[in-house]
Amino acid sequence: MPHYILSLDQGTTSSRAIIFDHAGRQLSTAQSEFPQGYPQPGWVEHNPEAIWDSQITVARQALAQAGVTAADLAAIGITNQRETTLIWDRTTGAPIHNAVVWQDRRTAEMCSRLKAEGFEATVRSKTGLVLDPYFSGTKVAWLLDHVAGARARAEAGELAFGTVDTFLIWRLTGGALHVTDVTNASRTLLFNIHTLSWDAEILEKLNIPAAILPEVKPSGAVYGETAGDIFGAPVPIAGAAGDQQAATFGQACYAPGLTKNTYGTGCFMLMNTGAEPVPSPSGLLTTVGWQVGGQAAAYALEGSVFIAGAAVQWLRDELKIIHSAPEVEALAGSVADTGGVYMVPAFVGLGAPYWDPFARGTIVGLTRGAGRAHIARATLESIAYQSRDVLAAMEQDSGIKLPALRVDGGAAVNDLLMQFQADILGVPVQRPRVNETTALGAAYLAGLATGFWESVDEIAAQWQIDKEYEPQMSEDRREALYAGWRRAVERARGWEA
Ligand code: ADP
Repeated sequence: MPHYILSLDQGTTSSRAIIFDHAGRQLSTAQSEFPQGYPQPGWVEHNPEAIWDSQITVARQALAQAGVTAADLAAIGITNQRETTLIWDRTTGAPIHNAVVWQDRRTAEMCSRLKAEGFEATVRSKTGLVLDPYFSGTKVAWLLDHVAGARARAEAGELAFGTVDTFLIWRLTGGALHVTDVTNASRTLLFNIHTLSWDAEILEKLNIPAAILPEVKPSGAVYGETAGDIFGAPVPIAGAAGDQQAATFGQACYAPGLTKNTYGTGCFMLMNTGAEPVPSPSGLLTTVGWQVGGQAAAYALEGSVFIAGAAVQWLRDELKIIHSAPEVEALAGSVADTGGVYMVPAFVGLGAPYWDPFARGTIVGLTRGAGRAHIARATLESIAYQSRDVLAAMEQDSGIKLPALRVDGGAAVNDLLMQFQADILGVPVQRPRVNETTALGAAYLAGLATGFWESVDEIAAQWQIDKEYEPQMSEDRREALYAGWRRAVERARGWEA
């Protein structure tokens, strides 16, 4: 009986591999960064071979470190940077171009044109997304338009499109499988989240031949086995999910209303909304949460904050008032409050629920006594305020009142920030013992599909709180502070003409 699950976590800046045991504990971790390509302003590319090489290398390292062989593995689960787009030759496996990364804005004009043609309502109702270069669909169209001969080869069935999960599974199986999971599919702009199938109308509008698309599978399901030479013996590949969905699964948000927020460069908040997709008048994304085996899919509302931990990096790298990110906590904690100072880190505009690309960062409420500690504190608090903005939109759209917020990510270790988050939301904030929720979620999906774990109830019991932050602020103070934040946001909006 194999004892472990290997989780592959292919992220935007690094590839990681973690081995988990039956109790959900980590046996070993390996990580490797790979280069980012910026061929033009606004363009971001990855070399597909660097993605593959780094991922397979860390997988083998994690196995070696733990003294685990392929025969000890019950399954492999995959989680990945979402939306990043690859196309390769079905015969040789060779990519026709670098991967076009989710951050890449090269299709902005295409998106504007489609919007002007009135196509956004169709996209929004069918895919739950918005017409933005972020998603894969227009990136596929761009590649077919700009790589010589690509469209004809795609139409002849010679090319394969995939997000990073699909590419890794193709390589792991020696080209035997061309599949994706419902969560990754739901980020392509080409996938109907109601019928869980590729959408003929959108494909036609974007001029993308269906022959290029992978087969869509549940997030937890045995897709196939690794080719024998990859790890020495075949291992079942039994799960895949986009990183944010995997983190939500790893946070055991299995009941409607359960919500997780990841505090990294930005914040990603996902709320489980149950078996039906919930449309969002507030401008959040509606997306597939996961699907395990033949069960119904779970849906989620997703909202993101563009600048969160990145604002702490700004304090460190530009203002130079701290030397390292963790130092922000002591500096912010050296004053009892911000003294009325608000910092709005709208460095790249504001996302949900404001959707204001013209907003810019601002600091308001400065008085003669305001110093670096107040600014540091205001910066930390801005992360919590922005998360409240997103959560308020979620509660409004879903009609679900949040019982507690589950948190993870690099900045979730900051006690001052987490306590302020609980205070400003008025709900408890819970940080679990396992902070590697993304990799754990992929492991859980693969383990459920192979019977390594029996049920979500069994794995939900593994989710344990490291620390819980109870709201301690009075309702009056909470609402007064939040009202100040909303006024500060108004000062930041519409700045860039
Ligand atoms: P990502 O996955 O987006 O790279 P991580 O989850 O690794 O992000 O978190 C890194 C981010 O967290 C950085 O933006 C950093 O500024 C921030 N960060 C790290 N430690 C702290 C801390 N103690 N307090 C506040 N922010 C922190």
